[in-house]
Amino acid sequence: MKVVVLSGGVGGARFVQGLVEVVPPTDVTVIGNVGDDVEVLGLHVSPDLDSIMYALAGLNDEERGWGRADESWRALETVGELGGENWFRLGDLDLGLHLVRTQALRSGAPLSKVTVRLGRALGIETRVLPATDDRLRTWLRTPAGEFPFQEWFVARGHRDEVDVVRFEGEADATPAPGVLEALADAELLLVAPSNPYVSIWPILAVSAIRKALAARRVPAVAVSPLIGGRAVRGPADRMLARLAGGTSPAHVAGQYAGLIDALVVDEADADDLERLGEVRPIVTRTLMADAEARRRLAEVALGAVPA
Ligand code: GDP
Ligand code: CA
Repeated sequence: MKVVVLSGGVGGARFVQGLVEVVPPTDVTVIGNVGDDVEVLGLHVSPDLDSIMYALAGLNDEERGWGRADESWRALETVGELGGENWFRLGDLDLGLHLVRTQALRSGAPLSKVTVRLGRALGIETRVLPATDDRLRTWLRTPAGEFPFQEWFVARGHRDEVDVVRFEGEADATPAPGVLEALADAELLLVAPSNPYVSIWPILAVSAIRKALAARRVPAVAVSPLIGGRAVRGPADRMLARLAGGTSPAHVAGQYAGLIDALVVDEADADDLERLGEVRPIVTRTLMADAEARRRLAEVALGAVPA
């Protein structure tokens, strides 16, 4: 079964890892968020695409939750000693990938091509595509001012409450080559348990992608990133409370209005399934604590398709 999954970084990557154990990895296309992309120290970093690729290649650090396992930080220490920009955590192993990506982009290759090339070099069978090759960047308006995504998330530790999420470049962003084709060929569309506002919305900000999902002829299933109304980590719950007025499954589903047919929710949220409208709830345990839990969650999401 051909599957397309929209994904952010860590939560999405964990889910995709489970998914490719349940369906052939070559049947899965991941459409990744690039709203988090950032230029640091002259390098182009695509944190969400990298989280997905590192997870699929088995190179990710499960404990830290991001970046590579067995990482070291000597290059960044040197940057700090020299008075350089060191607020964004870049490990030595990770830097190698950013060097290769940045050089390829500078020589004129589009991000989608570079990403496919990197994925191949890492031995990944699943196609990972950026939502767009165009420049698209997430900005957060907060009581303390408006910040680019990484400044808000990393430098300020996402402590500022968010009043508005905005995507710079959305008016002109077109889907990366292969994205619309994958959506058209898919027998099932999945939305990973990622942050709706800063991981999935920037993908949907590419209007042709949103239109393709709205006009789908196959089922679309999202997995909620909340358990008991709380994010497993990160600001998704606080953002939903402030921007949508609550953290129930209906509030999560509301962020994908008209785009999903079912929402996989955790057992801890099973007593709060009102106001979901047309969206069918599927209740299961959604904590992806280990490989088995990831696989089970993927199976449940796949099982949402009527036979
Ligand atoms: P990021 O780009 O690295 O921030 O990652 P994502 O946006 O893809 O994922 C972040 C979201 O994943 C957070 O809102 C978490 O609540 C959610 N998440 C992380 N681990 C789990 C899990 O085991 N189960 C569920 N349901 N959500 C999770
Ligand atoms: Ca992200």
